Amino acid sequence: MNPVVMKFGGSSVENIEKMQAIAQRIIRKKADGYDIVVVVSAMGKTTNQLLDLARQASVNPSKREIDLLISTGEQVSISLLSMILNENGQSAIGLTGFQAGIKTSGLHTKNKIEDIDIEKVEKHLREGKIVVVAGFQGLNQEGDITTLGRGGSDTTAVALAAKLNCRAEIYTDVEGIYGVDPRLYPKAKKIDMISFEEMKEMAFLGAKVMEPRSIEIGHRFKIEILVASAHQDTVGTLIKEADPAMETKSITGLSISERVILVTIHHLPSQSRHSADLFIKLAQNEINIDMISQTMTSDGYVNLAFTASSEDTHLINEVLMEIQKKYENVVVTTDTNIVKVSVVGMGMRTQSGVAATLFELFATNHIDYKLITTSEISISYTIDSALKDKAVHLIASTFNL
Ligand code: ADP
Ligand code: ASP
Ligand code: MG
Repeated sequence: MNPVVMKFGGSSVENIEKMQAIAQRIIRKKADGYDIVVVVSAMGKTTNQLLDLARQASVNPSKREIDLLISTGEQVSISLLSMILNENGQSAIGLTGFQAGIKTSGLHTKNKIEDIDIEKVEKHLREGKIVVVAGFQGLNQEGDITTLGRGGSDTTAVALAAKLNCRAEIYTDVEGIYGVDPRLYPKAKKIDMISFEEMKEMAFLGAKVMEPRSIEIGHRFKIEILVASAHQDTVGTLIKEADPAMETKSITGLSISERVILVTIHHLPSQSRHSADLFIKLAQNEINIDMISQTMTSDGYVNLAFTASSEDTHLINEVLMEIQKKYENVVVTTDTNIVKVSVVGMGMRTQSGVAATLFELFATNHIDYKLITTSEISISYTIDSALKDKAVHLIASTFNL
């Protein structure tokens, strides 16, 4: 077999006309001798619209029912695309995540792929069919339909490619990975090749073009991922193991995370047990905490600040309510008008001065930041949302992104 996984995101399948265009592209690839698994997302903004309906139905809808609801978007796409392929004389079959053998575990709306029973997909491929799999969904041990978190069709695609030991091709509405989101900085340059490590960091720090866990899977199983335009036959970006041919700028990319909240807990008793209890509770709810800062006050308390995804606001509030009940002096403030701006680059391991350049840039341009964190290959700042465009333009032009 000569398998390949081709994934098309929501904007690439937003109407029948676009589906017809990608069907032609898939058929051409099949004619080149590939056994093709296609992964599709829900049409256009369907997932958002379904979530909106859920909010109208209930203030705090059950996550299990949300999964049941939002997984339907992808099912519409697989059936329509399969019909179009069949209509064009190409035998195709649509499979839901469950039918494609995708087994998941974890909390509803945040499931992880445990394993894939790939036999069924392989059988259809051997029969010469194009297999069209619903992205973003699977089935857990209880037999419930689950979803993989927003953008999760990328993860479905790379996990299937890992199981089939082939390349994953992610077709989307931009021509590849850029140094900065081209919608925020139109002069951004496309990157031809990027390492798994840098792409993973950029994705975790907010570059929505790829879902972070998909890169993690690609890295673990050494699956090359091509990101390219769904509508034009241009070269795209290859995500692969770092190699000496890759350009070594001090900074490869700039990511912006807009869905961030900054929570500050004032007046928490200073013993480390209290902070530990808080973070354990947050972890039990699978809330990912990102930046953390703790400062002592002169009267023996601590102020604790952290950032998290705004999608978890409801869960976080529930945990914080318990904290407030437990400690009567505690005051909690939540800042939603912030964004996280992060620069990423393997060059930072060997080249010094990136942080100094950024601090100077922010100082001369009056950009104040609240929290800062660093990793070996990134530096992140939380800044006021109103300063986002200014910061993006300054950093992108200074580092030639
Ligand atoms: P799809 O629906 O195909 O999954 P997404 O909307 O999830 O597409 O991702 C594509 C979008 O990611 C682009 O439209 C672009 O605005 C955004 N994006 C963010 N950061 C980057 C980046 N560094 N390079 C390219 N696109 C980016
Ligand atoms: N439809 C899902 C979402 O909008 C999954 C995806 O597009 O990858 O998040
Ligand atoms: Mg996406």
